[in-house]
Order: sequence, then structure tokens, then C-alpha cells
Amino acid sequence: MSKNTALTGGAFLLRNTNISEVFIPEDFTDEDKMILHTVKDFMLQEVHGMGIAKVASLDAEKDKELVLEIFHKAAALGLCGVSIDEKHGGLGLNFNTGLLFTEGLAGGFSFATTIGCQTSIGSLPIAWYGTEAQKAKYLPKIASGEWGCSYCLTEPGAGSDANSGKTRAVMNTEGTHYILNGQKMWITNGGFAEVFTVFAKIDDDEKLSAFIVEKSFGGIELGKEEKKMGIKASSTVMVFFNNVKVPKGNLLGERGKGFNMALNILNSGRIKIAAGGCGGMKFGIEKTVEYAKNRIQFNKPIGDFGAIKQKIGKIASDLFALESGVYSVGEKVDKKHAQLLQSGSSENDAKINAMREFAIECAILKVHGSEMMCNTADEAIQIFGGMGYSMETGVEMAYRDARITKIYEGTNEINRMLALAEFYKRAFATKELNIAAAKQFLPGAIFSNYNPFSAKGELEPEFEFINNLKALFMIITGSAGNKLKSKLVEEQEIVMNLADILAMAFLTESAFLRVKKLAAKPTTDKRELHIKTLMAKMYLYDALDVARKAANNALDSYASGIEKSILKRLTRRMLRTYNINPKDVRRTIADYMIEKGGYFN
Ligand SMILES: Cc1cc2nc3c(=O)[nH]c(=O)nc-3n(C[C@H](O)[C@H](O)[C@H](O)COP(=O)(O)OP(=O)(O)OC[C@H]3O[C@@H](n4cnc5c(N)ncnc54)[C@H](O)[C@@H]3O)c2cc1C
Repeated sequence: MSKNTALTGGAFLLRNTNISEVFIPEDFTDEDKMILHTVKDFMLQEVHGMGIAKVASLDAEKDKELVLEIFHKAAALGLCGVSIDEKHGGLGLNFNTGLLFTEGLAGGFSFATTIGCQTSIGSLPIAWYGTEAQKAKYLPKIASGEWGCSYCLTEPGAGSDANSGKTRAVMNTEGTHYILNGQKMWITNGGFAEVFTVFAKIDDDEKLSAFIVEKSFGGIELGKEEKKMGIKASSTVMVFFNNVKVPKGNLLGERGKGFNMALNILNSGRIKIAAGGCGGMKFGIEKTVEYAKNRIQFNKPIGDFGAIKQKIGKIASDLFALESGVYSVGEKVDKKHAQLLQSGSSENDAKINAMREFAIECAILKVHGSEMMCNTADEAIQIFGGMGYSMETGVEMAYRDARITKIYEGTNEINRMLALAEFYKRAFATKELNIAAAKQFLPGAIFSNYNPFSAKGELEPEFEFINNLKALFMIITGSAGNKLKSKLVEEQEIVMNLADILAMAFLTESAFLRVKKLAAKPTTDKRELHIKTLMAKMYLYDALDVARKAANNALDSYASGIEKSILKRLTRRMLRTYNINPKDVRRTIADYMIEKGGYFN
């Protein structure tokens, strides 16, 4: 029987996590934070330094040289090799510190995507799945920035349905090369890449394989730079492969395993979108707070108005929950990697399987990180008023740039469904999750609400709500599954409702475990702890709204009769009103941000 441990992906739902098992952002060492500051400073100097209006007007086609100049400067600082082992010329950062690096990239607008692609989806297929010879040949040049790299999965007819691509590889008669033909679309860094990881089917295979393709092989034609809504300085092109001769040794990983590889690389990309979201939101808070302090209307700084504080308070509490989730999962990936190595896995398998383990959490973080980031950019425009709409301030650029995060690395619809599908797979098919454990957990969660007058310890009501979110997810998932059976997957609206309840359980728990761990640390600053506790509370308040709406939507969509009325009553009871004053809490959080000039460091 599988065990639900702290290092079992999705097990957060079926067990109570101990604070000793969680990593919180406050656990990062000064050395870890150095990488964050290095990349942030780099972006401030090289990108912001050219003037925000100039950055907002950059274009991947006409400013290619300038974009590449910045790319090469970043490479010279080692920033293109953060995820590559030291023996292959990289910095060999662990996964969680790599997330901190990604957070730091966020202030670089389009350049965050350029360097993000080089250090993530562009290079990780080789770093995680390559043979020693492939790594030795490609990684040092990627780490040094000599070779740009890209990830070629999407095709005009194969977007979300990525396995349906038509790009084909056929072995030549001499048996020395695959001949590659096809077309890829939306390829980030494609305009200057020398190395392309291309997903294609060999012969009539049903499943994709992956290949390392060099531009120097010949037969590669690039489309023009796409004209996009945002990330305009980031190169995005179509790539055509016309009888490209790929040496057979450039097959990456096993034949027919390319789709699994593509998905697993996206797991890493997804949590990185959330880490980037943390950086973007911090940047957003800093900029809006500065503006709100200085913009006077009705003889007052606009930051004195409740309507503005409400926005800042919400963004900060969302960020607190997101950040808590991102770095606790990041550290689990590192610990799982170490555990797998210890149990005899190869370096590649340990990296691959450590990442795959947390697919549920990565999908949740991608969805909510991107949505929080987009909301932040939208509200930042609102706080800046007309100036937010002007190219002069950069806020409209942040809004346009943020929007892509809900689309790439799997759309948010696909990721919501994936979180659920992965949960079902792990619970019922592979049995990596022991859902029998939930049986002991559920009655406690339900009955604990029956006595609202019982005395509660510090944060006890909050953890009770978190257990209720978990229990309600299990109850409604079970009931919907019983009623709809295999048709549940076709009822996507219900699946997405369930994914939202699951996400609220995960994010609220992440936020409160952080607060609990901080409270137990003697070195924690008491005032900061107070504000962080308020942020977790504010997030829980909002999360209960989301989960309530999702639960009611799901129940109204499939349930009927007595079952529906029981489950709706249970929802009301388990997700009852959380008694905080949201106005006061958001104001207190906003006042702190305004006083400090931004979020915590
Ligand atoms: C700027 C940019 C950079 C990119 N970079 C890369 C890159 O470097 N490499 C790469 O390979 N790709 C890249 N992409 C492609 C990106 O990953 C895809 O755009 C994305 O996966 C969505 O595919 P699509 O655009 O074909 O949309 P579609 O798949 O056509 O989706 C359209 C809509 O339908 C919904 N939908 C689709 N299928 C389902 C379903 N089964 N159930 C419910 N709803 C569904 C989607 O959620 C979406 O709302 C990039 C895209 C952009 C815009």
C-alpha cells in the first residue's frame, strides 16, 4: 500500500502536514538570495536602465541586436546556466533556488521570457533527458549563451492537443539520420536559437519522440517574428523543418517517450510561471505603493483611500499564499530528487521523477499564479489611472506581458483539468496516493463544525477550514464521480469547479503552514508575523468565497433531490462565514505595504 508522505505529490489533501516538513521563503539563506538580487539588479540596470518607454516600444524583429546584446550580457554573468550542472558549465542551482532566480527575472518584462526559455523549456530537455555525450556537446554552449535554445512542441493544428502534431521523422536508407519534416508554431527564442528540441513522431508512431536539432543541420526555415499583444521583445516564430538531416544519435530520450518528456518539462515551466508571478506581483506592489503615496487627489495621497487600500491588500495577501506554495513545492522537488538518488536512481531519472511527482501542485500554482499576476497588472493600471494606460509608466506593458501566462505552458483550462486528472490517476490508477487515508480524515473535518462554541486555540479555526476544504473536495468529487461515472471528464465545468476547491485547499494550507512555522521561530519579527498572519487570513477569507461558489456551481450542475440538499447544507456548514473584518484586514496590510514601500524582501 502506498504511503502519503510529505514527498508524495497530491498528498497534502490526505494528511496533515507538519511545519517541520515545509520550507518557507524565510528559510532561504543570504547566499540563496544573492542569485535573486543579482538577476533583479541585472534587469534594473540593463532593461529599466534604457528607460521604460523605450522598453515598451521594443520589438523582437527590429531590435534583435539589442535583445541579443542583453541576452549575452546575462549569459556572461552565468544567468543562462542556472539549471545546468557545474560540470557542464552551469551554476548547478538546486530547483528551489532556480525558482528564486525566476522570481528575479520577472521585472525584466520580455527578457524574462527570453532568459526563462533558455534556462527552462529550452535547455531542460537536454539537461534532464540527454545522454552524457549530448549534455557534454550542448549544455556548455547553452550555459554560456553561445547557443540560444528553444522548445518546439506546438504546431498550427496541435496546441492544447499537443500529441496530435504532424511533424514526422523517418530514418534514411543508410540508417544514419532521421529526416525531419514539419512545422512548429509560437516558438520562443526561435528567431535566434541554434538548438531546437523538436517533438515529432517517428514513422507512424502514435506517440511523440524528441530530437535535438541544430540550425547548422540545414533545412530549417524561420517565419517572421509574430506581432503579439505583449512580450514584444521576446522572439516568437514559426519554424519549418524541410528534410532536416538529424543524426540518429540526436534522438533525445527513448522513442515514443517524447510526449511524457514534453509534459514533464512543462511541470517545471508551470511552477516557474508562478515563481515569476511572485516577482511580478512584488514589483507591482512596489510600483503601485510608490504611486499611491505620491499621487494627490482631493488633497490626499490616493493611498489614503479605502478603495485603493483594498486593491493593495488583496494583491499582497494573494501573493503571500502563492509564494508560500511555490517555495514549499520547490523544496519538495529538491528533497524528492535527493531521496531518489539515495534509493539508486540515475541522475536523469531522479530529476525527471522528482518533477513529475508534483504535477498536481505545479498545475495549481500555474493557474493561480498567472491569474493573480494578471489581476495585479490590471489593478496596477487602475491605481495609476490614466497614467497606467500610458506607455510612459510601463504598467500597460506589464498588463500586456502578464496575459500570456494564462495561455502558455498549457492553458489555464487545461491545467485545471490536469490537476484533477492527475489526482484521479494517482489515486485510482497508479495508486501512488492512498486515498483510504481520507476516510479517517473526513468525519473529523465534518463533525468538528458541529460545535461552534468549543474553545479554539491559535490558528485552530483556520486549520479547521483548511481540513474542511480538503474534505469537501473529497466528498463532492466522490459524489460527482458516483453520479456521473466516466462522464465526469466530459463535464468540464464541474471538473474545473473541483479543481478550484482543490487549489484553495492547497494554497490556504501553504499560507497557514508558513505562518505557523514563522510563529514557532524565535527570530521572527513580531510585527511582520502579525501582517503575514493577516495576509493568510485574508487569503483564506477570499479562498472560502471561491470554494463556496465552485462547490455550489458543481452541486447545482449535477446533484439532485435529497443528495443535493444534504451536500448544499454541508457546504454551508463546512465553508461557513469566516469571521474577520475584510475591510480592516486589507487596510492594515495595505498600510504596512505603503509604510515599507513594498512587499517584504
Ligand atoms: C507568446 C507565445 C509563446 C509560446 N512559446 C511556445 C514555445 O516556446 N514552444 C511551444 O511549443 N509552444 C509555445 N507556445 C504555444 C502555447 O503553448 C499554446 O499557445 C498553448 O498551449 C495553447 O495552444 P493553442 O494556442 O493552440 O490554443 P488551443 O489549444 O487552440 O486552445 C484554444 C482555447 O480552447 C481551449 N481548449 C483547448 N482544448 C481544450 C479541451 N480539451 N478542453 C477544454 N478547453 C480546451 C483552451 O484552453 C483555449 O482556451 C507559445 C504561445 C505563445 C502565444
